Amino acid sequence: MNELFKQIPSVDILLKNQTVKDLLETYGREYVLATIRKGINEVRENIKAGTINMETSLEKEILNKTKAIINKDEKMNLRPVLNGTGTILHTNLGRATLSKKAIDAIVSVASESSNLELNLETGKRGSRYDHVVSLLQELTGCEDAIVVNNNAAAVLLILASISSEKESIVSRGELVEIGGSFRIPEVMALGGAILKEVGTTNKTHLKDYAENINKNTALLVKVHTSNFAIKGFTESVSTKELGELGKKYNIPIYYDLGSGALYDLKNYGIPNEPTVKILIEEGLDILSFSGDKLLGGPQAGIILGKKAFIEKMKKHQLLRAFRVDKLTLAALEATLREYLDMDKVAEVNPTLEKLTVSKETLQHKGELLCSFLENQLKDVTLTLIETEALVGGGSLPELLFPSYCVSLEFNNNSLGQKLLEALRKGNPSIMCRMHQDALLIDIRALEKDKFTKISESIIKEWETLLK
Ligand SMILES: *Cc1c(COP(=O)(O)O)cnc(C)c1O
Repeated sequence: MNELFKQIPSVDILLKNQTVKDLLETYGREYVLATIRKGINEVRENIKAGTINMETSLEKEILNKTKAIINKDEKMNLRPVLNGTGTILHTNLGRATLSKKAIDAIVSVASESSNLELNLETGKRGSRYDHVVSLLQELTGCEDAIVVNNNAAAVLLILASISSEKESIVSRGELVEIGGSFRIPEVMALGGAILKEVGTTNKTHLKDYAENINKNTALLVKVHTSNFAIKGFTESVSTKELGELGKKYNIPIYYDLGSGALYDLKNYGIPNEPTVKILIEEGLDILSFSGDKLLGGPQAGIILGKKAFIEKMKKHQLLRAFRVDKLTLAALEATLREYLDMDKVAEVNPTLEKLTVSKETLQHKGELLCSFLENQLKDVTLTLIETEALVGGGSLPELLFPSYCVSLEFNNNSLGQKLLEALRKGNPSIMCRMHQDALLIDIRALEKDKFTKISESIIKEWETLLK
């Protein structure tokens, strides 16, 4: 071992190597020297552990390790992942992917100065929200609108500006927790609202709201139970009935919609999700929803409502803390513009495209991916199977969509799990799942133009595993 330690070349000798000279050219002296030292340390550790590769020279070993460290350093921590889970709006995978125009809008506003808060007509200071308000008015019929960082921020801003130190009435069946630690009762408390729970977990009637209205009632709140379903003996009050009650007592109704659809999805297996436009027509005073769920845009909290309420929110101190940045606004404006053409939007908005794709098209896509892998994976049985996929993202509980999966079955079961891990850690990363010893790659959330990349990656990782 001591003999090997003595053979480790010095940094000065390594610096004379052509590979290192090339690295110095690209990465600069300081970084390369630090990385070479890390490479040397790794080689020392290997010698100590008796795991050093004796087939190559120590110099070569150090250089290989140095290059590997540089490669790893160069890879972004936050990077694209190919979504073979079938879940279209996967919160852990960043929810909605953006349309081409939305991406272009981000790039162009990021590359140059913009009129973010400047009215180009008057030359005076403008509002960043103005860029999307008229679009939201046109698409939903709302009086006014404002956009914040996400829907959680929207809920908090609405409660803080409308119901602070006043009572907000909510059904016990709608006191939900949404992912992480976002709990409606706690958010209400944070907003300074006094929570008035009414009804029971499974049943809340209109009279439960009516009987609890008093002088200090500021808001009737309805929350979309996005991520669970209460089944059986249940009853909740419709937005329409609630709207009528609110009018009678002159108390505004706020609906935390969660997903919020601008596109009518009832013919695509999502029957109970009325469009935002219909809800506004029903007379709701304030609505909020996420930008990156069913809308298929960037992360944002979109608030629509009567002018007087939106004005209050604009004046609230929290708005500054929750405000959206220009990149979000650029992507949101582009996303909303595409909704102006309802006949085309489902072709260009990736979320809608994945939700509305026909079963036949999915099958064709599945067959295409299979054809890329056919005869390329030794000892793997490749089939295309019909499955069911979730929409996800805390949207639409229980709704399962028909989908197709490319299924890989292995002679040796442990290899399936190993391949799953290798694909996750690979470049590109591919997320898929195991089901009864088969590795399933769901087609629904995958882009067709990534199939070459996906199949090359699967083939490469599989060959590595077989070695
Ligand atoms: C998803 C959801 C939220 C949180 O929205 P984010 O945009 O993730 O902050 C709040 N309320 C409901 C009902 C939701 O479904």
